[in-house]
Amino acid sequence: MSLNYSDKNTSQIEGHLNGPLFQNALQTIEEAAKIIDCDKNVLERLKKPRRCVTVSVPVRMDDYSVKVFTGYRVQYNATLGPYKGGIRYHQNVDLPEVVGLAALMTFKNSVLGLPLGGAKGGVCVDPTKLSRTEKQNLTRRYASEISSFVGPTKDIPAPDVGTDPQTMAWFMDTYSQEQGGYSQPGVVTGKPVEIGGSLGRNHATGLGVVFVAEKAFENCRIPFAGARIVVQGFGNVGSFAALFSYQRGAKVIAVSDVSGGIFNGDGLNIPELIEYVKINKSIKDFPKSQPVSNSQLLELDCEGLFPCALEGQIDVHNAEKIKAKIIVEGANGPVSNAATKILHSRNIFIAPDVVANGGGVIVSYFEWVQDIMSFFWDEHEIDNRLKSIITKAFDTVVTFRNEKNVDMRSAAMAVSIKRLEKAMLLRGLYPR
Ligand code: GLU
Repeated sequence: MSLNYSDKNTSQIEGHLNGPLFQNALQTIEEAAKIIDCDKNVLERLKKPRRCVTVSVPVRMDDYSVKVFTGYRVQYNATLGPYKGGIRYHQNVDLPEVVGLAALMTFKNSVLGLPLGGAKGGVCVDPTKLSRTEKQNLTRRYASEISSFVGPTKDIPAPDVGTDPQTMAWFMDTYSQEQGGYSQPGVVTGKPVEIGGSLGRNHATGLGVVFVAEKAFENCRIPFAGARIVVQGFGNVGSFAALFSYQRGAKVIAVSDVSGGIFNGDGLNIPELIEYVKINKSIKDFPKSQPVSNSQLLELDCEGLFPCALEGQIDVHNAEKIKAKIIVEGANGPVSNAATKILHSRNIFIAPDVVANGGGVIVSYFEWVQDIMSFFWDEHEIDNRLKSIITKAFDTVVTFRNEKNVDMRSAAMAVSIKRLEKAMLLRGLYPR
């Protein structure tokens, strides 16, 4: 039977737009667009990614066999500047997820006031099952496959879940070798400092989460020092968010990683836990703690809940059971749009992802600027500049929320869309 293309419905053709993360983002976009009475043509354009690249990534494994992984780079919107966003290595990565994450990067960079567009990349692979050599081979081939789409003025990747400064070093080296062997540090951010990385980049997302948390607590008139904090995830974001909270006198009563959660009502010693994880590779069986499941952890009685792992953690199924007074979204998309409404009606304050986890991309922006200038700032300057950008974005969103009486997620999205709308109308449509 021959295929009649007109029979194909949109969901078949546009399956990459049907993932839960992106569908959630679309709901927020539509709602926010209504609040600001966004131009209809702009809204149409904001609801679609500009370019989705899918590549095969053949990798020589240590046993000499070849495995072919699938990689993606989604360039969502470049109105405000070069595309910018991380690269994720995770076994659940697929195109719909990367589209959702690329959309979130676009709205994040806009609400933060950065001169950057939004993108995201990923490879469907469990990086914990790769040797160092295999991870290097995978990174170099993935970098090579997407190299014609990236570059210091085009699209600048960075670390995300499952990737780190070493991954960025391999990516930067591969790109540089392919561009005649000249060093191109500006092609990625989140690099080690020895090769053009920025001081303060590694802890930036976690520090940003805590700067935002302090503002959120102040807003709710709850003292941060002494507050009970629960952190989901103990990777690059969660571990630093826990550490900076601990250093500011908050009581981090529970954290989790892929092995599950640990709890101590008197507060966990986070510096000791970080040392423990360096040796044991997991928080499991940390002394002076008792195990808790992931769902128990999210529902613990506490003042602050920081979901710093993956998307889709709080939805309509558990939103009623959350006891935290303040949620600070260290992860991208941890709370669904519908759950946001429930939490909002229960007077739970949400610092939305596009602001709360913006510390990473803010310091990525500093890294990119420093690479272009070949002039580097000290860590104190980086941390201070980060604080000023992220708290300003938070204040703008809170002011908007108060004026329009909407939830924080809609407010953040509305502020973000407003900036994009102005820029898109000024640039116009090509050809017209
Ligand atoms: N992956 C981080 C994020 O989701 C950082 C992106 C970047 O620095 O470009 O925001």
